[in-house]
Amino acid sequence: MLFANMFMHFLKIIFTVFMNFYTIEATSIRVIKITIFLLFIVIQTSCSLPGIHFKPANPKHAGSYPKATERLRLIADQTTKFRTCFDVKRYELWMTPDPVNKKINGRSEITSYALSDIDTLQLDLDERLALSEVRVEGQPVRFYRKYSAVFIIAGRTIKKNQRFRVEGSFSGKPLTAAKPPWKGGLVWKQDKNDKPWTAVACESEGASLWWFCKDVTNDEADTTLLHYTCNKSLVMVGNGSLLSVANNGQDRIYSWQVSKPINTYDITFYLGDFVLIEDSFKSISGNWVPIRHYALRQNEMRARVHFKSAKKILSVYENCFGAFPWQQDGYRLVESPYEGMEHQSAIAYGNGYRLDDTGDDYIILHETAHEWWGNAVSATDLGDVWLQEGFATFSEYLYMAYTHHADPERYMFQYWLAIGNKRPVSNPYNLRFFDYRDGDVYTKGAYALLSLKYLIHDDTLFMKIIRTFYERNKLKPGGSNTKDLESVISELTGKDYTWFFNQYFHSRKVPMLEYRILENEGIVYRWTDCDSAFAMPVKIRSQGDDYFLFPTTKTQFTAVPQIKKIKNNNLFWVMRQGLFVSIYEVYFGLKPSKKLRKEGIL
Ligand SMILES: [Zn+2]
Repeated sequence: MLFANMFMHFLKIIFTVFMNFYTIEATSIRVIKITIFLLFIVIQTSCSLPGIHFKPANPKHAGSYPKATERLRLIADQTTKFRTCFDVKRYELWMTPDPVNKKINGRSEITSYALSDIDTLQLDLDERLALSEVRVEGQPVRFYRKYSAVFIIAGRTIKKNQRFRVEGSFSGKPLTAAKPPWKGGLVWKQDKNDKPWTAVACESEGASLWWFCKDVTNDEADTTLLHYTCNKSLVMVGNGSLLSVANNGQDRIYSWQVSKPINTYDITFYLGDFVLIEDSFKSISGNWVPIRHYALRQNEMRARVHFKSAKKILSVYENCFGAFPWQQDGYRLVESPYEGMEHQSAIAYGNGYRLDDTGDDYIILHETAHEWWGNAVSATDLGDVWLQEGFATFSEYLYMAYTHHADPERYMFQYWLAIGNKRPVSNPYNLRFFDYRDGDVYTKGAYALLSLKYLIHDDTLFMKIIRTFYERNKLKPGGSNTKDLESVISELTGKDYTWFFNQYFHSRKVPMLEYRILENEGIVYRWTDCDSAFAMPVKIRSQGDDYFLFPTTKTQFTAVPQIKKIKNNNLFWVMRQGLFVSIYEVYFGLKPSKKLRKEGIL
């Protein structure tokens, strides 16, 4: 899912102006000058605009989590015996949308493997939809529903290690998305020619919003078969490769096959007057990977040009992380009636064919990264969704760094400004917690990875860590968590980085570098508001020379002969003077102090 900061565009504009303060020509328009002046006032007074933080700060009040009501527990708790007793192997889904009445009609067939003896099991379907019949191994069985949970009484004991099949038919009016993709549901729109244009987004809410499934993030089917029916004048696109198109009276049935494990929220459909744009790219694996984009007919020519950029992005990400994960299923962008979503091998694209000031399309850049981070490596629980969003955001940085067409640190700094520090990056499990209004899983997650890169201080080793983590965790049954990353880092560096993880992932607090400048003498400093073992090195620059400080929570002094007095510590000054240059690369705050003394330091 894409970053949802409502001030993002505004932020990008002021950030660009701000970063170019000293290079703006005398001929620049007056509006920019006024903006700079206003910006100057804001920064000098160290104000925060809503959602933008010019100084890293520790908010007094922590962000809250949703109350674990019975309704929430039934959908969010992945540890109950009714869910852990079986492992889904295969989904087959039939679905027909009715865009006129905003209804759907479908059937799911779920083949699973019993992990223990089963009398009752839980599947899920939103309570707005009717469930007409449930069968186990072809026999009708009893079931009862509580909110979105469907408890199925098998009628006989399904023995451990047995494969079994559950079928259910569903219909009705699913939730209409209030703010897709962040507040999800079905999106019923019409294109400019008044033809139906329908899609779905359900990452936060879950796939059971529109189909009958085991709605968890820690159990992915190995293969999925999708049969979508629509009027012959339209096209229905799903994930994976197109197996067949069958005529059925006035309708057509599009059958799609996903040959690799897939998150249930990634399983999707798009209905519209689409045209196919076929292409392929040469993967580093040596294979030609099929590309089958679908654009609205009215936008075909724009899409043919615009979607070409995806090939360069795929190539950079392959070099960073490894071969594109869906070699057989392929890659595609599908024009969607909302901004974007990482639907596996069928990315929702709705950014209006726009380019950012870096010359890239953020949606293609970000959502394509999710094919590696989110789709191949998936978080066990949305509590660790930063593994998907933080890595996808950090991938944007790597793309900038590898292509050298934009300053990667400057690019990242826009995210720095949006970090809120209300909650830790790694959140509690079994709450289905993913609050789109708290972007720290994107921004701080990515900044934590940048800080880690700085800390490791060996880019070859750092990228080896990223690739090893990817390689070991891609398509991992049950998904991955923050601890999996920590153990790869410990193994490859031979060091214990518990303090780093405690600080940047499990605590919401910003480490603050408390310091005092002694003019023409040096700097006294220590870390505060941090893990007791926090030991992030910091680079400062004075009169063109770099000095490395190795602060801990104990007060230290480093001689920096030419250092000037720091008048204040706001961001504007810091960047202008070039001091604390690692503020670009490491996430921390500055806390000037008059108390710190060099006397008495051993
Ligand atoms: Zn995302």
